[in-house]
Amino acid sequence: MAGASVLLAERRPEADTSIKAGVLGPLAVEALERRGLGERLAAVEQERFRQAAATAAAAAGLPDPARLPASAVRLGPTNHFAGLEYLEPDRVKGSQRRRMAVNQYALELMLADHARRLGVDFRREHELIGLEQDAEGVTARLATPRGEKVVRASYLAGCDGGHSTVRKLLGIEFEGTGPTLTGRQAVVELADPGALRLGWHRSPEGMLAYGLGVKRVFTVEFDGPPADKDAPVTLEEIQESMRRTSGADVEVLSVKAPARFTDNARQAKEYRRGRVFLAGDAAHVHPPFGAQGLNVGLLDAVNLGWKLAAAVAGRAAQGLLDSYAAERQPAGRRLMHSTRAQTALMRTDEHTSELRELFASLMRYDDVNEHLWNILTGLDERYDLGDPHPLVGTLSPNWNVRLRDACPGKPGPRTNVAELMGSGRGLLLSLTTSPPLGWSSQVDSVAVVPDTSGVDAGGSEAASYADLQALEAMLLRPDGCIAWVGTAGGTTPGRPSLSQALSRWFGDRT
Ligand SMILES: Cc1cc2nc3c(=O)[nH]c(=O)nc-3n(C[C@H](O)[C@H](O)[C@H](O)COP(=O)(O)OP(=O)(O)OC[C@H]3O[C@@H](n4cnc5c(N)ncnc54)[C@H](O)[C@@H]3O)c2cc1C
Repeated sequence: MAGASVLLAERRPEADTSIKAGVLGPLAVEALERRGLGERLAAVEQERFRQAAATAAAAAGLPDPARLPASAVRLGPTNHFAGLEYLEPDRVKGSQRRRMAVNQYALELMLADHARRLGVDFRREHELIGLEQDAEGVTARLATPRGEKVVRASYLAGCDGGHSTVRKLLGIEFEGTGPTLTGRQAVVELADPGALRLGWHRSPEGMLAYGLGVKRVFTVEFDGPPADKDAPVTLEEIQESMRRTSGADVEVLSVKAPARFTDNARQAKEYRRGRVFLAGDAAHVHPPFGAQGLNVGLLDAVNLGWKLAAAVAGRAAQGLLDSYAAERQPAGRRLMHSTRAQTALMRTDEHTSELRELFASLMRYDDVNEHLWNILTGLDERYDLGDPHPLVGTLSPNWNVRLRDACPGKPGPRTNVAELMGSGRGLLLSLTTSPPLGWSSQVDSVAVVPDTSGVDAGGSEAASYADLQALEAMLLRPDGCIAWVGTAGGTTPGRPSLSQALSRWFGDRT
C-alpha cells in the first residue's frame, strides 16, 4: 500500500490446512479492519457461527438451530485463562474491542488474496535456503521446483514460523524453556455428540477443551513431551487422551487434522540483525493457551511493514527501523509470561488444584478480570514513545466518528477510524479546528467529531469514547499506534509537539 515492491516467498504449494488459531484477538482484528478487511472477516465469522449452531443443535437433538438459545452456541474458545472460564470482557473498558472467531486457514487465504490484489509478487514453492547481507541489501537463495534462484532486496523479513530458517541462518539465540507436556488436538466425530459437554474438563490426568470451534477437541497432559514427536497421530491416541483427560468414556468415530503440540516457549534475543528482521513465530513460540500467538505475530508484521516501506522509499526518520524491536520485543516477553503462567495453573496435582481455586475466586474481581483480559489481548499494551500522555503509544480503537464541515450545520457522514486509515498512511484526526499539515504525502488530515450514537452512556464503551472526546487532535501512525495527542491548553512541558512527532515518525516535512 505504501508503494514498496514486495516479494513473498512461501515454501508450501498451498495454504496450510492444519488446525491452528481459531480466534483472532481484538488488536489484530482492528489492524485488519484498517486495511479494509473488516467485511470479509465478518463474513467468515458468520459462516463459523452457522456451522457451530448446526453442531450444537444436532448435539441437543434439535432439527432447527434457530431454536437454540444463543448461549448454547460456542464460536470459539470461551474467554478463559488456563481453562478457568470466568473472564468477562463485557466488564472491561472498551468492550466493543472484541475477538473474532476467524480461523487461521480462512485468514491465510484472505491475506494471500489481499497481497495479490496489492501487486505483491507471491511465489509458492519458493523456500529460502540461504542469505547474505551487506551494507546495501540482502541476497537470498530460494529453492524452487525449477532450481535455485537468487533474489536481491533492500530488506528481508523472516516470517517463517517457529523453526525459522532465517533465524537459524543468522545464528540468533532462541532463549526460553523447553517442553514439559503433550497437547493433542483434532476435529472429531463422536458416536454420541452429547457425551461431552462443551467447554473445559479437568481430571487427575490432564485437561480437555471441547467445542473450541466446530467439533474441535484439545487435550493437555502433563506427563512430559511426546516420546516421538514425528510419529503419526492416530484416532486411538486422540480417543485415549480424551478419555483420560475428561474421565468420560467417549467413542471417537473419525478424526480430522490430528496433531500434537508442546509448551516450548522461546523468544529470539534479537528481532533485527542489520537488514534482516524476524516477526511472528519466527521471533517467539509458546503453548497455544489463550489464543494469542497469531494476534501478537500479526501485530509484529503491522508494526514492521510501514517502517520498512518508509526505509525503502528513503524517507524513514533516523531510528525508525530500530523502533520495531524496541516496541515488539516487550509484547513477545509478555506472551512468554502469560502462556507459562497458564501452563503452571493447568497442572493437575493437588497443590495446583488449590491454587486454581484461589485464582478462580480472584478472577471475579473487576480489576483482576480486566488485567487478565488485557494480558491475553494486549489491549493495554503501550509502546514507550517517551510521551507521558497515557494514550500515546497505545493502539487506537476503531472509534466511530462523523466528518466535520462536510455540510455546515449538519452532522457529516458516519465513518470510523479504520475507514479513515484505509490508505495505509498516517492520520491526523482533528477534533476541534483543522490544523495545517506539512506532511500531506504521508499523513491524511481529517476534521471529525466522535460519534457515540448507539453507545450505552455509562457503559464500558462510553468510557473508551471519553478518551477521544477529551482530545483536540490525535496523530496515528499507519499501524494504528497513537503517536501524539493534542489536549486543551496546548502542549504540556515535557511532551513533544505535533511537528516533533510528525518528524519522528514520518521523516522530513514534504
Ligand atoms: C493448536 C494451536 C492453536 C492455536 N490457537 C491460536 C489462537 O486461537 N489464536 C492465536 O492468535 N494463535 C493461535 N495459535 C498460534 C498461531 O497459530 C501461530 O502463532 C501462528 O501460526 C504464527 O504465524 P506465523 O506466520 O508467524 O508462522 P507460521 O504460521 O508457522 O507460518 C510460517 C510460514 O512460513 C513458511 N516457511 C517456513 N520456512 C520457510 C522457508 N525457509 N522458506 C519459505 N517459507 C517458509 C511456512 O510454510 C509457513 O507458511 C495456535 C497454535 C497452535 C499450534
